Order: sequence, then structure tokens, then C-alpha cells
Amino acid sequence: MTDDRGYRTRALTILGATGSIGISTLQVAEHLGIPIYALTAHSKVEQLAAQAKACRAAVAVVADPSCYAELKRLLSGSGIRALAGPAALNEVAQDPGTGAIVTAIVGAAGLEATMAGVQAGKRVCIANKEPMVMAGDLIIAAAAESGSPILPIDSEHNAIFQCLEGHHQSEVSEILLTGSGGPFRTIRDLSAVTREQALKHPTWSMGPKITIDSATLMNKSLEIIEARWLFGIEPERIRVLIHPQSVVHSMVSFRDGSVLAQLGRPDMRVPIQYALTWPEHVPGPVKAPDFAQLAALTFETPDSERFPSLRMAYAAARMGGVAPTVMNAANEMAVAAFLAGRSTFLDIFRTVEHALSQVVAGGQTTLGDIIAADADIRARLAR
Ligand code: NDP
Repeated sequence: MTDDRGYRTRALTILGATGSIGISTLQVAEHLGIPIYALTAHSKVEQLAAQAKACRAAVAVVADPSCYAELKRLLSGSGIRALAGPAALNEVAQDPGTGAIVTAIVGAAGLEATMAGVQAGKRVCIANKEPMVMAGDLIIAAAAESGSPILPIDSEHNAIFQCLEGHHQSEVSEILLTGSGGPFRTIRDLSAVTREQALKHPTWSMGPKITIDSATLMNKSLEIIEARWLFGIEPERIRVLIHPQSVVHSMVSFRDGSVLAQLGRPDMRVPIQYALTWPEHVPGPVKAPDFAQLAALTFETPDSERFPSLRMAYAAARMGGVAPTVMNAANEMAVAAFLAGRSTFLDIFRTVEHALSQVVAGGQTTLGDIIAADADIRARLAR
């Protein structure tokens, strides 16, 4: 048993503090008495300044440089340092004042700061899955070199992490990645579904991009590739199961026929807390499910005809190289277009499929190649 107060001595930086995961992380940190070193946002300066003052952060960073003057004004007299621009995200992720970081930026924008925290040997609690999809092999290799512990926050990966504790990959037969199925699980014709319908997730409350990803099952697709790098298991041994109740957060099936699952309420504060306090489970704000009140736990195979994103993920993983980066960037662009009312729900699948069809498979990739491929596909899709 380790000292269960170790986590209180690691000052925390939250990258993406103003979002859904960022806000939940602040609640957990307050509950646990974890000091905050830095908070970051993209452009919501008022919210960022209010959060930084409330938790007495040392630094607040706004990624959009045009918001710097406003952040500085809002923080004047508070003693909190204001910084701006993408490079400042890397700076706080690496700063000696930070012991742990929670990556809660949405999308590829979190890649370089995630890598900066890993290279600096911080405890890196990963919610921001897109960088893992793009560069998971490089991130895991950098963590092995720096000694950075990587703790998954995504509820599925946090569950798998818990099921695997004390076991070796060679004991695993397959990973069973569960997902609610999203709002369109039972809708046959997806051609006319609206943004408002897509934004109504049946079990989880999350930011808009991941909510749309849950409706297309692209979230599960990204998670297959995320799990592949986090746990060193080939994608063919990662199987998606639809579980509409969102109580079983994922399972690991072992070679002797035994299956371990992690269960809990659909509340991100549980995996966030465990990432922060690992290896301890300490008292938190969320109660365990009341099993006597649960009617049933059901599981079904996903429909990959209606939701082709799943086969795209396996294809991108097989292709390797920059294919997962291209899949992710095309999806980010397509989701933004759908949210802005410029395209239909089914256009998301078409955009990603077309982008993947242009990729040359394979090849060793550097972080520079990945950043270039990401920028290139975005520029092409923006035309
Ligand atoms: P939100 O959209 O709610 O929040 C995103 C955060 O990122 C905000 O703080 C936002 O700042 C910041 N941000 C956006 N764009 C940029 C940028 N270009 N540069 C720097 N910061 C930026 O997202 P979620 O909290 O829902 O998701 C965050 C990540 O966690 C995603 O990768 C998601 O897949 C993952 N995740 C989320 C879960 C959830 O329950 N929400 C569950 C599991 C994983 P601002 O507010 O100023 O725009």
C-alpha cells in the first residue's frame, strides 16, 4: 500500500480546463485537495480567469493569442500569471511546478502539449484521445524513456487499465470495448438525422465533438486505436460491444476463459479521480451503482453497415503511418462542418472514407510527419 496522500503533493495542470472534462477535473481536484499549478483554455477567457482565481492557480494560459490582453486584464491584481499561444501550453505541461497533467483539450490541438508533458516525465492523465490516435506509438515510447506514468481517463481505457493491473498482455485473449451505441442505435435510416438529435447522448454528458463522435461511433473507432497503443494489443484483438446502459465500462477476456470487467455510474469524475490517485482508490464524490435498481445489463454487436466508422478504424490501424492521423483530422473537419450546419450526418462517414482512400499505407512516422499530415488534410478539406 502506498501513501494515499501522494497525489496531494503533485500540483496539477489541466489542459482544457473550461471544457466538460476540465470542469469535472477541477471538481475532483477540489474534493481531493490537489493544488492547481496551471489551467488552460482556447478562448473562453472569462471562464478561465474565474476558474484560476477560484482554485488559486499559479498560471492561466489562453491558446488563442488574440485573447491575451483580456486575460491579463481579468487577472490583474490576482497574482496569477497570464500566458498565451500554443507554445505556452507546452511550457506549463513541462514546468517544474507541475507534477501531473490532465489532457482535456479536444482534438489534435492537444498533441504537442501532451508530448511535452510526457517527455518531461510528468504523470500524464489522458482524456484527449486524438493525440493517442495520431501518435500513440511515439507517446508510449517517449513515456518509456522519461518514466512518465500514462493514466487513461477515457472511461473504457480506465476500465481496461484496471482490469489489466497485475497481468501481462500475453495473458489476454481480447479486449471488449463497450459503448452505449449513441442516440441512433435503433434508428435505421440516418440520412435525415439532425444536429440536435445527434447532440442528445442517451447516457453521458460531454462536449459537442465527442458527443457527435459517439453518434457516428467514430468515438469507439478512435478508442480502438487509443487502446492499441495504451495496452500494446493488436486491433484485431480489440472488439467493440454495444452496451446501452453504460454501466460496464469495458472488459478484458483472458486466455483461461475468465473475464474481468470494471463497472460504475456513467460519471467521468470516477475515472478522472482514479487517474489522479492511482494506485489508490480513495473516497470520492460518486457512489457505486445500486445493482438492485438496475433492470438489466445487455450487450450487442455493433452494426458496421450503418456505422462504417468502425471498419475505417481497423483499416487505418492496419495501414499505419499517418493513416490514423488522416482519419482523425478528416473526422474533426467533418464534425465541425456538421455542427456548423454545412453538411449532413452521413457526410461525416463520406469525408473520412474519402480521406482514407487517398492515404499511402505504412512507413515510419516522426512527430513532424504527423503534424504535417494533419495540417495537409485540413488544408485540403478546407478548400
Ligand atoms: P470540450 O469541448 O468540452 O472542451 C474542450 C477544451 O479544449 C476546452 O477547454 C477548450 O477551450 C479547449 N480547446 C479547444 N480547442 C483548443 C485549441 N485549439 N487549443 C487549445 N485548447 C483548445 O471537450 P470535452 O471535455 O468533452 O473533451 C475533451 C477531450 O476529452 C476530448 O479529446 C474527448 O474525446 C475526451 N473525452 C471526453 C469525455 C467527456 O466526457 N467529455 C470522455 C472521454 C474522453 P475553450 O473552452 O476556451 O474553447
